[in-house]
Amino acid sequence: MSKYDFDLFVIGGGSGGVRAGRVAAQGGAKVGLAEEYRYGGTCVIRGCVPKKLMVYASGYSEAMDDAEGFGWTIGKRSFDWMSLRKKIDEELVRLEGLYRKGLTGNGVEVFDMRATIKDAHTVELADGRTFSAKTILVATGGRPYLPATKGIEHVMTSNDVFLMDELPRRILVVGGGYIACEFAGIFNGMGSEVKQFYRGAQILRGFDGEVRGHVADEMIRKGISLHLGTDVMEIEKKGKELHVTCTNGSVSVVDAVLYATGRIANTQDMGLEEVGVKIGRRSEIMVDRYSKTSVASIYAVGDVTDRVNLTPVAIREGMAFVETVFNDNPTAMDHEMIPTAVFTQPEIGTIGYTEEDAREDFDIEVYRAAFRPMANILAGRDERALMKLIVEKASQKVIGCHLVGPASGEMIQMVGIAIKMGATKADFDRTVAVHPTAAEELVTMKEPVR
Ligand code: FAD
Ligand code: NDP
Repeated sequence: MSKYDFDLFVIGGGSGGVRAGRVAAQGGAKVGLAEEYRYGGTCVIRGCVPKKLMVYASGYSEAMDDAEGFGWTIGKRSFDWMSLRKKIDEELVRLEGLYRKGLTGNGVEVFDMRATIKDAHTVELADGRTFSAKTILVATGGRPYLPATKGIEHVMTSNDVFLMDELPRRILVVGGGYIACEFAGIFNGMGSEVKQFYRGAQILRGFDGEVRGHVADEMIRKGISLHLGTDVMEIEKKGKELHVTCTNGSVSVVDAVLYATGRIANTQDMGLEEVGVKIGRRSEIMVDRYSKTSVASIYAVGDVTDRVNLTPVAIREGMAFVETVFNDNPTAMDHEMIPTAVFTQPEIGTIGYTEEDAREDFDIEVYRAAFRPMANILAGRDERALMKLIVEKASQKVIGCHLVGPASGEMIQMVGIAIKMGATKADFDRTVAVHPTAAEELVTMKEPVR
């Protein structure tokens, strides 16, 4: 008989917490889990899933344009935001139910409320109940960060987009990261007039330079009014309109402003520092390779640790935690060479070193193809795709791959396997092309461009 109420108590029912709680319970541990909002967390309720459904929805406007190039006559078109929202809401309810069932069906005791940490082995629920646990896992994720700009109370964050009652006719998106660029494309495809302000010289800082330029050009070509080196000074509400004064003094009049200026970890008022858990400068929980905090009985996984903030990473960190703590098999999450997609329009798939970063560390060769995908020719669309391979000269290993264009997210998952295995350029070259596809360019780039 354990002296604790639970072997494991998980705080947060998102990607990392649900996976860790479920797998630990399947292995025989007595597990409790508290979630203060909805099971599935950011990814399912206000992130990846509803976002991707909106990306699909917004893509139909171009698909209908393109269809005419293939002989179709498309009649009168209209887009009904509330009809889409209702469908998405129903899907989220279904998924949330599956997440909850995945927990309770495996014996996890769930508590639909906020939990905080009382001491190294005790959690306290919002209703005042306390439970002891041998191990506590903090998987509380993050939330949107808003700067203290004048009038910031009038703006939306990504959380609010999924709850809008109508589609704004004119929207200003602030930020140049994943979320800002994805939503600029979504609103544009759905028919809103989109302006985007980014304070820096080019959007998508941290991605390969050519990818950033290519995506920015295509976003502009699709109709997004992208303003670089531009930030907001003040937002004023006048009737139903928002008047936004920017750093160059010009005023934009819009119906909504979406701020996507980064996210911060949910560590506030959790009792973490009080029990000795070290918190970093960005409010993240500091952990070791095994996701252990500075308190031996408290672990943390996912966005709250601000390592690589992606759903599959939170899930893997959760599984590595269970392996380490419950299966007596110390397992560190491998954060090297993680493939990822950005669902901008056009879409990005990327893994490994950017050309700029690779040049700092290695002598490299760069292979590149930029071409008009076959479907765009009859469609009369000028949009081009971009593919890059970064190869380390000495070993001939492919250490980076960057794709822009249709299905790049799907492609990078597969290319990622080869690159993770250490494939060389010669391995790519000896693989026969699949024809006619865009992906065949990956194995037919013969001469380096640099
Ligand atoms: P979360 O999923 O955020 O879960 C944390 C949970 O803890 C939440 O449900 C919260 O309500 C709960 N909680 C917080 N505090 C407490 C408390 N004190 N007590 C009880 N419960 C609490 N990643 C991708 O890989 N692909 C994508 O396409 C993608 N798109 C995204 C789009 C958007 C708009 C956003 C915002 C994120 C996106 N992400 C994407 C990132 C992804 O959603 C996160 O990396 C992932 O959800 C992190 O999982 P987590 O378990 O760490 O935290
Ligand atoms: P990012 O960190 O990617 O981008 C934040 C953006 O806001 C940057 O352009 C940043 O500029 C800008 N910014 C920050 N502070 C300010 C400020 N005070 N004023 C003006 N601009 C500011 O964060 P996101 O919120 O876009 O996304 C968070 C994370 O969620 C991502 O990093 C990713 O891990 C995950 N995610 C993953 C997705 C996917 O896998 N497809 C999709 C969406 C999110 P600067 O560059 O100058 O710092």
